[in-house]
Amino acid sequence: MSVISELKPSPVWTYFEEICRIPRLSKNEAKIRLYLLDFARKNNLESKEDSIGNILITRPSSPGMENRKTIVLQGHMDMVGEKNADHPHDWLKDPILPVIDGEWVTAPGTTLGADDGIGIASQLAILSDKILKAGKIECLFTVDEESGMTGAINLKPDFFTGRILINLDSEDEGILYIGCAGGMDTVGTMKYTRQPAGEGTAALAISLTGLRGGHSGDEIHKGFGNSVKIMNRLLWNLSNTYKMSLSDFDGGNLRNAIPREAFATIVVDIKSLGKVKEWIEGFYSVVLEELGEIEKDMKISYRDTVLPAYVMDRDSQNKLLGSLTCCPHGAIAWSKEMHDLVETSTNLASVKFTENDTIKIVTTQRSSIESSKHDVGAMVETCLKLAGAEVVHSEGYPGWRPNMSSEILKITRESYKKLFGKDPCVRAIHAGLECGLIYEKFKGIDMISFGPTIRGAHTPDEKIEIKTAQMFWDLLLDVIDNIPVKKQN
Ligand SMILES: [Zn+2]
Repeated sequence: MSVISELKPSPVWTYFEEICRIPRLSKNEAKIRLYLLDFARKNNLESKEDSIGNILITRPSSPGMENRKTIVLQGHMDMVGEKNADHPHDWLKDPILPVIDGEWVTAPGTTLGADDGIGIASQLAILSDKILKAGKIECLFTVDEESGMTGAINLKPDFFTGRILINLDSEDEGILYIGCAGGMDTVGTMKYTRQPAGEGTAALAISLTGLRGGHSGDEIHKGFGNSVKIMNRLLWNLSNTYKMSLSDFDGGNLRNAIPREAFATIVVDIKSLGKVKEWIEGFYSVVLEELGEIEKDMKISYRDTVLPAYVMDRDSQNKLLGSLTCCPHGAIAWSKEMHDLVETSTNLASVKFTENDTIKIVTTQRSSIESSKHDVGAMVETCLKLAGAEVVHSEGYPGWRPNMSSEILKITRESYKKLFGKDPCVRAIHAGLECGLIYEKFKGIDMISFGPTIRGAHTPDEKIEIKTAQMFWDLLLDVIDNIPVKKQN
């Protein structure tokens, strides 16, 4: 354990240590806002706050640098508060206590808030740097990134003037991010008709467990099994082979996770019960074989259960199982600009039987191209409507389409190579970032995102690799130094 502010680069770590003392959970950012405004006052810098609570502090251009293009540095002022159960911490008043642990800085028992405290600290270090010679720099501090991005959503298109923006909220040194996906939810609600289970029947409870799940954006292309799709396939094929009625289907939970488990209750003729069980075992081995190593822990099991009073009628059941058979899941298109980037995807997230003979089907779509996001949303909508479901789309958030000929990308790439003697990776992510919202509002804006290496963000194990903070800082200063002059009209 030693003093954080003695680490290099010292201005960044000094400010980082200072913000660690200020509670700043999402939706509780009043104290950090006051701190930022007070910082601007003490440093004689112009500042303003919008109605949602975003703050802009401007560093005027150095003498003789007025003809440089203005740049915007952006980070979010809020953080995620997670702690170990046995660790006492009052998120509304206690400071975070960062410590050095080998090559890393971490905070025992709590999140560290390097996401995005290190971005904020570097903005403050730039703003207060008395030696730095640069054009005009606008530092944008957004609120509430972690619990809904309401800061970025409510940004007004005249809040800042720069049209080059560096987002300081990524977590992998050596990777420059130049795109992200937009997203939306598509939810279907379907009424069904029920009928008595009937004489001479028996019920089986089927469960499917042990799949990996995973993030519905980042991991959608990895080929993990979708428990809703697999269970539906079981039910659809079984119902085409034996007389079978469905009484319950419950799969998946979170809208942004690939579903890991699914459960169903079915009713069949007592006479065919043995055959049905055999059929399920056969289906299990077929799917296990199909998925191979990647889902080797998948389990499908069944047990006899109490006969339910009611089941779905044949017509409703065919519509439900048929539409889920059609409903797409997974990567739909790959980027034409970037190798290995999923451009468009959809996640069949959950199916639930709810009260009043209603079934709720939740899906999410993502794409770095806004029109493609709506197109895949329409595919899902149509499948669900064929089953007679009412379908609604959430408003969603827009994506940020990669631009390989971006000026700031060229500058940052060259700086990186000059400083570290190797090429950085250039990537886009198939998940949402504040950049997507900014990209939509500030037409023609040229953006990039980079940061130091942070691991375990949003968990009490969050940590930042010390040496990458220096690399991040060197890169940021060099990029600022290479911002070109404005074009003369
Ligand atoms: Zn963040």
